Amino acid sequence: MVAVLLFVLPASAPSAEQKQLSIYGPRVSYSLPVSERNGQDYVALLEALEPLGSVSASVEGQKWKLRFKKLEAEFRRNSPVGKIAGQKFGLPAPFLLEGDRGLVPLRVLPTILGLMLPTRTDYHEAGRRLFLGGAGTRFTTDLREAGLSLNFSAPVNPQISTEPGKLKMTFTRDPVVSNASIPRLENPLVSSVTFSENNGRAELVVLGRTPLLAKFAAAGKTIEIVPAPGEARQSTALTTAPSTPASAAPTPAPATVEVPPIVPAPPTVQSLTVKPPFVVMLDAGHGGDDRGALLSETLEEKAVTLAFARRLRSELQNRGIGSVMSRDADVTVPVEQRAAMADAARVAIFVSVHAASQGRGVRVYTAMINSLTSKPGGFLPWDTVQADYVLSSRALADVVKAELGKHEIPNSELAAPLKPLNNVAAAAIAIEVAPSGEDVASVNAGVYQQRIAAALAEAIVVGRSRVEAQR
Ligand SMILES: [Zn+2]
Repeated sequence: MVAVLLFVLPASAPSAEQKQLSIYGPRVSYSLPVSERNGQDYVALLEALEPLGSVSASVEGQKWKLRFKKLEAEFRRNSPVGKIAGQKFGLPAPFLLEGDRGLVPLRVLPTILGLMLPTRTDYHEAGRRLFLGGAGTRFTTDLREAGLSLNFSAPVNPQISTEPGKLKMTFTRDPVVSNASIPRLENPLVSSVTFSENNGRAELVVLGRTPLLAKFAAAGKTIEIVPAPGEARQSTALTTAPSTPASAAPTPAPATVEVPPIVPAPPTVQSLTVKPPFVVMLDAGHGGDDRGALLSETLEEKAVTLAFARRLRSELQNRGIGSVMSRDADVTVPVEQRAAMADAARVAIFVSVHAASQGRGVRVYTAMINSLTSKPGGFLPWDTVQADYVLSSRALADVVKAELGKHEIPNSELAAPLKPLNNVAAAAIAIEVAPSGEDVASVNAGVYQQRIAAALAEAIVVGRSRVEAQR
């Protein structure tokens, strides 16, 4: 799997820190300071609403009037009753007015936002995390011999810190939530994974039986926890600590010993300069709101492309070739994002899948771009990054065409300005699967798709060395 190393910061000593609340909306996430007044937690209401829409407030005598979008709210200094759009509601502690700043008890904020926004609110009180409109990034754990994969439903960007035998990921801006209990892990590498929420943040702590390292993969949606390379280096660092004689029998390292940051270590830096592993991105065209072509009255293109991409994934797997999917569900993924995912993951090959009701067999497309667009050493605009790869894209398309021919599948090869091929920094092709005969439904038939997928997987095996030579 292709990986980009995360910055690893030494764990900082716990200190008395500012209490905060984090709010996660569908489009924004932010944190607010929480202040204590008379033993209660309070937040400034105007600041809580500002990122969500236009808001203003004014003081009129003892009253504090708030206008959010088209709604009016009214509070009174030291009063435990508020009013939103004419509807009165109780506060668990009095409203406070400090200058022109209106403070409401933290515990009533979810209620207030629920009254003001046409959306669901979900408050995790103990962790001070408030989710609006169903926001939430879920994750699953996948433990394999090589390490532990944490797979998130959206890209994440945690702060990572390490102590011996412990790796901590702190999510402040990412609305990471735990959907299920994390399975108990019987593994030589990882002894436990715990999820917790605290002070407007979520934390995932992995306890290991060996020094661990975190890597990003799948464009930030996967974090892989693997043994740190060069354990010898780490033990050197530990044994040079003044209190630990080099000859000492193995004793548990004190919890306060900090391992050096992992990133500057030579082995990992070096790994960034070598060729990334050979991985294929399978891009099932359309999805979610974009259904693609309506192939028949009951058959939408987006379903056919996903079914085919999954078959191709297993055909590649059978041949020992790893792949990632730009989508593996009926979800909307903008076309530019698909290319960005491929580029971030540094895949070797990008295969976009489409389907059609017209024609027979498979059409194979490459980008309509000239390799001379590329200027050696210059920075390319993003929409022409394919120029550097178009020769290997065409070479791959030639091999695909030949393999389809061997499998007696009608085929043609053409160049087209097909999104997002121009944005992909890898050998990139698109294929359009058309029916095998008169019956349009054949485009979604398992046996037919299997034949095409097998031919494509063969072509990728055959074309691999050519593609590798150009990376
Ligand atoms: Zn399409």
